[in-house]
Amino acid sequence: MLINLISSWRLAALTATLVFIGGCSDKKLENQEATPTAAEAVIVIGAGLSGLNSALLLEEQGYKVTVLEAKNRVGGRIYTLDDVPGRPEAGGNTISANYARIIDRANKLGLTLTPAPDVVGGMRTMQLYIDGQFLDPQAWATFSGNTFPDPIKRVPPGSMIFAALRGNPLQQPSDWLQDEYQKYDVAIATVLDGMRLDERSKQLVNQTNSYGDTLDSTSLLALYRTAASYAKAGDIQGGLSAIAGGNQRLPEAMAAKLKRPVLLEKFVSSIALSDAGVVVTTSDGTKYEADYVISSIPLTALRKINITPALPPLQQRAINEIDYSKTLIVQLTVTGDYWGEQTPSLWTDTKIERIFATSLDDSGKVTNLTFWLTGANAEHFSGMQNEARDKALLDTFYAIYPKAEGLVTLQKVVDWSSDPLILGTWPAYKPGQITEFGNAIAPPHGRLHFAGEHTALSNTGMEGAMESSERVVSEILRNNSKHTVATAAIDPKSLFVTCMACHSLNEGEPHKLGPNLYGFFGQPAASREGFNYSPALKGASIVWDKPILREWLKTPEKVVPGTRMIYRGSLTEPELEQLIDYLITQTSSKVNP
Ligand SMILES: Cc1cc2nc3c(=O)[nH]c(=O)nc-3n(C[C@H](O)[C@H](O)[C@H](O)COP(=O)(O)OP(=O)(O)OC[C@H]3O[C@@H](n4cnc5c(N)ncnc54)[C@H](O)[C@@H]3O)c2cc1C
Repeated sequence: MLINLISSWRLAALTATLVFIGGCSDKKLENQEATPTAAEAVIVIGAGLSGLNSALLLEEQGYKVTVLEAKNRVGGRIYTLDDVPGRPEAGGNTISANYARIIDRANKLGLTLTPAPDVVGGMRTMQLYIDGQFLDPQAWATFSGNTFPDPIKRVPPGSMIFAALRGNPLQQPSDWLQDEYQKYDVAIATVLDGMRLDERSKQLVNQTNSYGDTLDSTSLLALYRTAASYAKAGDIQGGLSAIAGGNQRLPEAMAAKLKRPVLLEKFVSSIALSDAGVVVTTSDGTKYEADYVISSIPLTALRKINITPALPPLQQRAINEIDYSKTLIVQLTVTGDYWGEQTPSLWTDTKIERIFATSLDDSGKVTNLTFWLTGANAEHFSGMQNEARDKALLDTFYAIYPKAEGLVTLQKVVDWSSDPLILGTWPAYKPGQITEFGNAIAPPHGRLHFAGEHTALSNTGMEGAMESSERVVSEILRNNSKHTVATAAIDPKSLFVTCMACHSLNEGEPHKLGPNLYGFFGQPAASREGFNYSPALKGASIVWDKPILREWLKTPEKVVPGTRMIYRGSLTEPELEQLIDYLITQTSSKVNP
């Protein structure tokens, strides 16, 4: 939702990045069932975006899919509060313009994207509330309580973490798992120490840190990755959006599109793997058999599942040791002006951290408030009984705005860290954890495959969840062809699963986030009419021939530095050739000698 929450998310999680301009969409692939041979049943654990998208993609390939979800609703960390006036979001709220997969899936399902709500009055004028005083943003630089050193005195405390990331060495977000960047897998505190921040300043900087509990326990490399995503997102025109009627409508529509309904309230407690297949058991004792199983659940939830044979020790340690950041979302409704001369939204140094005021009924008047708490502040309220917690939250708010009593109603508190099926917001990598575990999280374990936002390479958040589903489905398609005696090689169409969200292939189809590729082969780059190419690609004098495509589909950034396509290919050489041949054939171009 709101720009401020956006900024929470964007400054907090900093959305994700662009994808893939190199593959292709394929009508046949989307509309016709492929026919997997021997192995064809898949169980998906979890009905968040990654689980649902995996299920849809597998069904499009002809697989029989059973989705098991422990909650009584689909969506996971997408959670629209339909029972609160204004239907605010408690989870994933803003969709960046470069969320190709989310946008494509929403379009296919007939859902409408609308601009994400902004905070009333806009972000720029939102005041600070520090040491018990309201401050206009421009007054911060000269405020007596501002102990930031001179060169950075103007930077508001909430923006300080990202100000410290200037000179980000990552060229693109997917670089974060490359060995050469491991030297940055240290605490963000080391950079801030270099800026000579005193303890009070560090406390303010950490006040709204959504990536870890403390500056000492937050990995700089994780933040560089997020900032790199943010930079890429900024390259794409278009604002932040949300699904009309609530983001929850997207997972609901995805689930409704499945041939077999999602099985709700099915908590998976164990997974048994063998050469022949998988047996998944739920806590009610039911056993489900299949050829493959996808876990799309957060690492924190995966800890509770008994897997046999055991995972490799490093992978199991990653699951056990990577904790998720803490977020507590408080939703309130408003019936009158409580702020007087001040702004209704605030960045505060109090325990309720940030207050975002929005108008969710199009009246322009403030109708809703969100308190967005992280880290120790979220934990502080998490530990309380509901009644005491609600009173403490409101008392903190009333201490800031005494006139608010009687004008606001606390509607709902969503404590992600206490949700036993999520236990947090997103991975909060501690220094050294990316180096140790980064490449150990996603590899399949026999017939068990891993999806989920935490397994994505290039994107984070909702788009990361979708990206992970493409990877996991192409893994299963490849794994399946290995297990299927009759099939010597993978069906080339299945290599395109990861391309479909960004590219259309057929003549006359509209561009998506990437251009329509009809007739592209043999043509100069950036020559499709009506597509807004990056300046880098426009300036590159390359022609799409096989040698260029081979390199492009490995790492586009290396072929054209500054391209908006952030993709790192993982195809084998024969697969790459198949992909290129398929692409050429499907786009009806002639093959250059
Ligand atoms: C407060 C908040 C704000 C956010 N804001 C944004 C934003 O603005 N933009 C953005 O892009 N992203 C945002 N995100 C992140 C985004 O919502 C997530 O990254 C994404 O939705 C994760 O999808 P997923 O499928 O990977 O996992 P999940 O959505 O967590 O799905 C996993 C599912 O598995 C289920 N499950 C767990 N254990 C079991 C079990 N044992 N058996 C069966 N089922 C199980 C869970 O109930 C859940 O439904 C936000 C997240 C939060 C919490």
